[in-house]
Amino acid sequence: MPFDTHNHTHFSFDADMNIQDALKEAEKYNLNLVLTEHYDLNEQQEDGRPVDFEIDRYFEAYSSFRGERLLLGIELGLDNRPDYITRNRTIAESHPFDMVIGSVHNLQDYDMYSDRTKNFLSKQDFFSQYLIYAENTIHQNPYIDTFAHIDYPCRYLTYSDNVLRYEDFPLLIDNFLFTLIENDICLEINLRLIDQPSFREGLESIVRRYRELGGKYVTIGGDNHSPDTIGIKYPLGLAMAKEYQLTPVYFKNRKRIVDQLQ
Ligand SMILES: [Zn+2]
Ligand SMILES: [Zn+2]
Repeated sequence: MPFDTHNHTHFSFDADMNIQDALKEAEKYNLNLVLTEHYDLNEQQEDGRPVDFEIDRYFEAYSSFRGERLLLGIELGLDNRPDYITRNRTIAESHPFDMVIGSVHNLQDYDMYSDRTKNFLSKQDFFSQYLIYAENTIHQNPYIDTFAHIDYPCRYLTYSDNVLRYEDFPLLIDNFLFTLIENDICLEINLRLIDQPSFREGLESIVRRYRELGGKYVTIGGDNHSPDTIGIKYPLGLAMAKEYQLTPVYFKNRKRIVDQLQ
């Protein structure tokens, strides 16, 4: 069974998913799961608490579930501040994670989720800055296994058209994708927007280019925060991978493994 490689349980500040419910739902859809709890050094919750979790408690709580069907990872919020670069790498490497996914949730001081009304840049300027920043985070954090949701900003921006399309930023997207490929980092097909045709086409234009530039491996992640979204959009991600002859993979003990699709 293939893995959905992006899931949040109650160890994440914004999720309350219970592990047994998650596994039960995944089984219905013939999926295995990698948990990837949020750890963002550069973000705070609304009440000022950090966006992190007790990593030792996480491994303790799930040790009896860990195995064929469940792997334990982390979603690190990447940031190019030198001390965050060092701390993120230390977090990734000093615990026995199966998989480390890297994300850009913040663009310097701009938190794309909670500050959405504060974005006064044009769409062209915003995505140009975002893509340059994302490429730079890969250079600075080359130890990650996959880069999550390249289309994350599309969820929250307030332009009349939020779609990120390859043809609008070909050079910047090429640079970003080359950097992933050079560093042997996978591209995640994030399922959050994939059922909306315009967003699917945008993501597809980037996935297609990843393949053209020599990319081979993708991870497929639902970014599930509750059991009810598990599995539903997974076939759309799989179909996109297949369309561009990309191989879906997951990571176990930080080693890339090809998904068994049967
Ligand atoms: Zn994320
Ligand atoms: Zn996530």
